[in-house]
Amino acid sequence: MLREELIFVGTCDIAGVVRGKGFPASELPARRKSGIGWTHSNLMQTCFGPILDTPFGTAGDLMIVPDPSAELHVDFRDGSAAEHFILGDIRELDGRPWECCVREFLRRAMAALKEASGLHLLAAFEQEFVYTGVEDLPGHAYSLGAFRRQGQFGEMVTAAIRASGAKPDSYLAEYGPRQYEMTVAPETALRAADQAVSARELARGVAFRLGHRAIFSPMPVADGSGNGVHIHFSLHEESGAPATHKAKGPFGLSEAAAHFAAGVLHHMAAIAAITAPSPVSYLRLTPNRWAPTAADIKLQDRGAALRICPIFAAPDEKERALRFNLEFRVCDAAASPYMALGALIFAGADGIARKMTLPKPGDAAMPLPHSLGQALQIMEASDTVKNWFSPVFFEAYVRHKRSELAYVADLAPQELCARYAEVY
Ligand code: GLU
Ligand code: MG
Repeated sequence: MLREELIFVGTCDIAGVVRGKGFPASELPARRKSGIGWTHSNLMQTCFGPILDTPFGTAGDLMIVPDPSAELHVDFRDGSAAEHFILGDIRELDGRPWECCVREFLRRAMAALKEASGLHLLAAFEQEFVYTGVEDLPGHAYSLGAFRRQGQFGEMVTAAIRASGAKPDSYLAEYGPRQYEMTVAPETALRAADQAVSARELARGVAFRLGHRAIFSPMPVADGSGNGVHIHFSLHEESGAPATHKAKGPFGLSEAAAHFAAGVLHHMAAIAAITAPSPVSYLRLTPNRWAPTAADIKLQDRGAALRICPIFAAPDEKERALRFNLEFRVCDAAASPYMALGALIFAGADGIARKMTLPKPGDAAMPLPHSLGQALQIMEASDTVKNWFSPVFFEAYVRHKRSELAYVADLAPQELCARYAEVY
């Protein structure tokens, strides 16, 4: 069969969908500069596809320029077209970053953290999903049976992640029916977000090749288990030296990490509109799901919004400090990893800049928003969060999410979950 290799360049947009365009691989050198054509209203494509509302109309041209450091070429050697895609930045035609580019949002957050503290952040994404290629056998959470039944899927996903240049960390059968989880090793923020996008797409790509799906929707079934995206993070000095841990600090946190965590808690309800940005996200953030319900921080507690993670068998204090990390659990795959990590970092950087303090033991934690509508309202009331965006980007983000909410407003939970499971 006559074939010519194609490369896809795109970005994981505010709907959490990777969108872009393809071109012949031979054109890559030219496309590195000129990218592919894009238009402003593409940002307003909801996860369901249609643009339901847009401040941009039909006018305007932009380009998505591939970032060579986010190129991935995974050939499954099964005759199928390789997964060859490059994540990129949305730019104005003169090359300036577009104010609504999600990778730029994350870069600005990283710069805010650096300015506030001189520190940078390493992140590792732990992503849960339902693999449809196995039968649903009750009672098999974490079981070898559930692990075995997914057959080659886990090995193929792991190989694909490694071939993409990321470092797979773990793969397991999760608590929910047909639910699995994959984690990729920590990386600096932008790279970690790129790799979260890639890992998600590779899992989908492997499932597709096997005639199945990997469903990342936050709540595939209304009365089932939620799919979380947990973001592990730690702070580091320019030199790479760890800066998160202090044995005598609150929860074992360094001063900077305590301020950072306090900032995240302070902005938690507002940033939920970015990190848990779908109506079904709020079906996941309910009691008895191992998912958070309040803006709280706890030591080694999987019900907390911010969890101080355990360190397994660290040989010494140096290694302990290196591995010490927190986990942000108010996130799911309806969020673009760039936006979610960006919001987390902006919030933490604000905590450092304003020297915010952690709640005292016994202080009641604020409940998380109960709906996306409520989260959006809280976000809109926060001038700080607004300032992380440009006015145009903020308006576009809110209008995008509000139009999505209106579109599904009449659906009962079961139907709502079914619709989101189709798109994520
Ligand atoms: N599935 C849970 C969630 O929605 C998390 C389970 C776990 O602790 O890994 O976040
Ligand atoms: Mg899990």
